[in-house]
Amino acid sequence: MATYQYRCPGCGPFDVTRPMGRALPEEQCPTCGLHGRRVFTAPMLPRTSAPLARALQSQEASAHEPRVVTEVPPARRHPTSAADPRQAQLPKP
Ligand SMILES: [Zn+2]
Repeated sequence: MATYQYRCPGCGPFDVTRPMGRALPEEQCPTCGLHGRRVFTAPMLPRTSAPLARALQSQEASAHEPRVVTEVPPARRHPTSAADPRQAQLPKP
């Protein structure tokens, strides 16, 4: 079943549920009984959000072409100073 949208000239938009591909060009308004014309709208397809799509693509790519790291990334070579000065007094490995 699919939901098709129609617009009544007096009441505005209303929905009619019909089997897929069986939509009529006009339907009777459930409120006033006038004939409303069909309104073509975008199908309600599920969309994957952009962050989720990137994560899924990255996961799939790593399964086939895992990235090999040969050196420490430049951003992590020089760790930033700790927010708490007491951490500088802790023993280093
Ligand atoms: Zn109506």
